[in-house]
Amino acid sequence: MLRFVNYSTHFGVSEQFVVILQFDYKNPKDMAQKEDVFKKIVSHAKEYGFVFPSSEIYDGLGAVYDYGQNGVELKNNIKRYWWEAMTLLHENIVGIDSAVFMHPTIWKASGHVDAFNDPLIDNRDSKKRYRADVLIEDEIAKIDDKIDKEIAKARKRFGDSFDEAMFRQTNPRVLEHQAKRDALHARFEKAMNANDLAELKQIIVDQEIADPISGTRNWTDVRQFNLMFKTQMGSSSDSTMDVYLRPETAQGIFVNFLNVQKTGRMRIPFGIAQIGKAFRNEIVARQFIFRMREFEQMEMQFFVRPGEELRWFEYWKEHRLRWHKALGLGDEKYRFHDHEKLAHYANAATDIEFQMPFGFKEVEGIHSRTNFDLSQHEKFSGKKIQYFDPELNQSYTPFVIETSIGVDRMFLSVLCSSYEEQVLEGGDSRVVLHLPKVLAPVKCAILPLVRKDGMPEKAHEIMQMLKFDFACQYDEKDSVGKRYRRHDAIGTPYCITVDGQTVEDNTVTLRDRDTMQQVRVAIDELPAIIGRECSLNTLLRKLS
Ligand code: ATP
Repeated sequence: MLRFVNYSTHFGVSEQFVVILQFDYKNPKDMAQKEDVFKKIVSHAKEYGFVFPSSEIYDGLGAVYDYGQNGVELKNNIKRYWWEAMTLLHENIVGIDSAVFMHPTIWKASGHVDAFNDPLIDNRDSKKRYRADVLIEDEIAKIDDKIDKEIAKARKRFGDSFDEAMFRQTNPRVLEHQAKRDALHARFEKAMNANDLAELKQIIVDQEIADPISGTRNWTDVRQFNLMFKTQMGSSSDSTMDVYLRPETAQGIFVNFLNVQKTGRMRIPFGIAQIGKAFRNEIVARQFIFRMREFEQMEMQFFVRPGEELRWFEYWKEHRLRWHKALGLGDEKYRFHDHEKLAHYANAATDIEFQMPFGFKEVEGIHSRTNFDLSQHEKFSGKKIQYFDPELNQSYTPFVIETSIGVDRMFLSVLCSSYEEQVLEGGDSRVVLHLPKVLAPVKCAILPLVRKDGMPEKAHEIMQMLKFDFACQYDEKDSVGKRYRRHDAIGTPYCITVDGQTVEDNTVTLRDRDTMQQVRVAIDELPAIIGRECSLNTLLRKLS
């Protein structure tokens, strides 16, 4: 895709540009480049200190990643946005930080010991292990891709007069694909609902699904695999007990329900929010930080009166989508995916999906969990877990709406949608991360044009003024053009250049990352200009 944008020249740095890498996900040609661009994003993340493979000098550890100097800042900013949107904007939501280790009976009560399983299958030739449900879902996605391609071709042929709904209803090839897809989906759903492992295997056989590595169909039977990591607690052999690394943070909230409600004098409806690590022994870990074995969740459990849960479910659905969209990554990149198959304890559930380079994928789940968890903990602990409602003058077990978002998936969606390659006038190029300014790891770079004539001193003075409010970086190495490129690559919204004129009249040039436009402003104006775009307050105000 070609798009001419802006123009500005300063300090001999010519910055007219053409966008060369931007994706129209409906265009098959662009789709063919999706994998390539994803690889580029992964290597960019490493090269610029966002995400490193864990234990890299020992050849890494599967599906475990470390966040580098820029990654941790971006991640903290995402967490702060979520935390403040929950706890500052809602008087009736408070936070906690519960331990990773919990009493093992908690996981019996929650159902994780017996049912937190994935169906796994091995290929005897490649010795690789797969999730049987994912193999089948991929097969369904392939049919969806075929339908999308037919539609994209027709759209190109018919131009503005193209009627997609009509085409879907009448085109014989689309109808044929759709019928196959529906039949496969119905069979798959039935097998999953019935926990029928033999049928899942049979679907894989009937669809002639081959191992992507060996290319063979030499599959084992499908078996269940529990995703929880287990370890021992205690030092002597008779006092040790098996404990689990928590696979979700939510249970830490449920078992503290009474503590928080009583000590915080909370009245229903109210919520408890938590950010913390979770661990799952995922069978197939792929797509970078999308599916990890150690990851971080931001979860909020909202406790309501029985019978009012579906109204609150709708409230949180709408509210959470607004939180995502306020970041400005593109409204069209989000969609809801309502669950057809509900967990036995849920009476409504939806995912917020984001358009990653590898398709629409779940970033957040919103679930109406009834009173299942609190009732289970009441049963297993033998302690009464009820709320006395003074307005109704009665006690009950509250119902719960849960919002659960993965920090790492959120990070990935921000990173993927921000990455862009541009060719500049004169053949130079740049990679720029158009991160939402408020999330950027560094808000402004302070650059003395040269290392003399009082410019470094002046730059340090500006740094001293700004650093209490904004993450700033002082950078005097290399030409100013190279410094711009370095900061474009990590998504720094503003570069402040100190030159000869600054020393005379206390003005600087302020360069915008996205437009590359430079304006001359007084040093005194900097806090207000940067604050307008980069402060979390501005973003939070959009939500309330
Ligand atoms: P999936 O179907 O993709 O395995 P899930 O439905 O099991 O996800 P939940 O149990 O609802 O996920 O967890 C809530 C959120 O936690 C997810 O929306 C996702 O953002 C995040 N999450 C879950 N598993 C992982 C993982 N292995 N790696 C990174 N994030 C994860």
